[in-house]
Amino acid sequence: MTTVIVHSWAPFRVCLYILPLALNKILVIEDERDMANAISEALALHGYSVVCAESAETGEDMLHAHHFDLILLDIRLPGMDGFEMCRNIRNRDDRVPVIMLTACGDEFDRVFGLEIGADDYLIKPFSLRELIARIKVRLRRSEHQPSATKSLSFGELRIDLKNSRVFLKEHPVALTTSEFGILKLLVEERPYALSRETLLQRVWGYSYYPNLRIVDNHILNLRKKLESDPRQPSLIVTRHGAGYCFAG
Ligand code: CA
Repeated sequence: MTTVIVHSWAPFRVCLYILPLALNKILVIEDERDMANAISEALALHGYSVVCAESAETGEDMLHAHHFDLILLDIRLPGMDGFEMCRNIRNRDDRVPVIMLTACGDEFDRVFGLEIGADDYLIKPFSLRELIARIKVRLRRSEHQPSATKSLSFGELRIDLKNSRVFLKEHPVALTTSEFGILKLLVEERPYALSRETLLQRVWGYSYYPNLRIVDNHILNLRKKLESDPRQPSLIVTRHGAGYCFAG
């Protein structure tokens, strides 16, 4: 296990633990340093990759930058509280499991959290063993659910997955079926890059195609339609030697 990132913008240690074979990524939004560190270390020891944020605002930034399989969300946070953040998460993504952490056993907190879309809650102090058990249950359930995500937002770009539509500054963007397929796949697989061969196979269903330029041409068109400067793309970027990657 290696700790590879320590962000300077946080008032306490914010770490990204990456395990070579980590299967699930968990975002921990918790402003109490000791609690966040204890949770991070326990999760990392159980094979999860973990990102911590000390505020909902920082958590939102992390959610825009990375895909997560589960979110642990403290209710009482400085600035935006956990309830508001949970609503924001559910407006974009109704699939990712959210477990709320509450400092007290207040019934209103627990019921309200579940009403606005949290999947579960834990009352502090809780045992790390119980936390791991709850996480395993939620991840197992979410893996067996069909994709029900309605839409994803990245800055001014919004992707309506249910209706296969894309909006830029809330104006519809006309994409061909193949262009939408590429965009959707890159978004789903972010932050990983996909090779042209993989895109060809998964978007068009070809296992062999004599000319991979068809993929490059579609990427070019997508950039023209979505990027503010297609010559210096910031959404769909080229990773040399690896392929294309969604970086929105
Ligand atoms: Ca707190």
